[in-house]
Amino acid sequence: MLRDSFGRVATDLRVSLTDKCNLRCTYCMPPEGLDWLPNAQLLTADEIVRLVTIGVEQLGVTEVRYTGGEPLLRRELPDIVGRTAALSPKPQVSLTTNGIGLARLAGTLVEAGLDRVNVSLDTLDRDTFKRLAHRDRFEDVIAGLSAAHDVGLRPVKVNTVLMRDVNDHEAVPLLRYCLDRGYELRFIEQMPLDAQHGWSREGMVTADEILALLSVSFDLTPDDLEERGSAPAERFLVDGGPARVGVIGSVTRPFCGACDRVRLTADGQIRNCLFATEESDLKTPLRDGASDEELAARWVAAVSRKRAGHGIDDPSFLQPSRPMSAIGG
Ligand code: SAM
Repeated sequence: MLRDSFGRVATDLRVSLTDKCNLRCTYCMPPEGLDWLPNAQLLTADEIVRLVTIGVEQLGVTEVRYTGGEPLLRRELPDIVGRTAALSPKPQVSLTTNGIGLARLAGTLVEAGLDRVNVSLDTLDRDTFKRLAHRDRFEDVIAGLSAAHDVGLRPVKVNTVLMRDVNDHEAVPLLRYCLDRGYELRFIEQMPLDAQHGWSREGMVTADEILALLSVSFDLTPDDLEERGSAPAERFLVDGGPARVGVIGSVTRPFCGACDRVRLTADGQIRNCLFATEESDLKTPLRDGASDEELAARWVAAVSRKRAGHGIDDPSFLQPSRPMSAIGG
């Protein structure tokens, strides 16, 4: 078991398949992109599957979410998903993606064993998309969303980051858009994880503000408070339900006490938190011939050191040197 010293057990593994992305969302990376990890440093598909197998079969991981960077850029994704879904006990296999290319791949991924998908969509306006993501790919994302829905990855979850004076006027239209199509929308507070260090507390649209914006047009009632468990999203029934909307207040309403997540970066580092400043290297021992048992023991030791909280409100808080795209969101 991946148990930390506060008694939390990590069962939800987020695996970054690449740090590369085909968008340049302003809250994530600069328009010119970043210095990508050299290919030789990226875990191979076999190395990823070996570590995921240790996580699932020896360490109690029950959910594996592939992310990045943009995971659809990794050609071996269907193979990795297929080998993950074949593990025993079978974990839930999910994907967080910007949706570009999903229209083509959704069917293949479901056949391989993908259970769920989260697609990021911050705006319904093509020009705003271009401004926000520095790429004219709005239509590809919309096509990816509807393909995911059509192949049965339901409910498709949509992730939205609101930014003040950029897309915060779209909170209501975005929710209507998702309700009309049977997608489940989740707003995520903007976090200090961008490579340019441009985040500011004042610029962040808070969970309270998001709820106030939505409440002008919708009746929101808190849903299954007891059942929230480790889920990052606070969920609300919209107009009495059954449709729901989620708000992830990572900064102003942290949920660290119930966190069950652990991350594996594309270059084989274990991270206990998006905001961790320490990492534990599994790639070097793996490439030096460590046994599964040795790798499992290192992983257990790494998680045992997980901190109580992300500490954004501590005066000593330091933004991690790895940006979100290189951690795996
Ligand atoms: N490329 C994929 C995507 O777009 O979903 C997966 C990786 S992306 C880092 C995962 C999620 O993190 C996206 O929903 C994105 O909007 C969110 N994200 C990125 N930077 C963020 C930030 N600074 N604050 C909050 N969410 C962020």
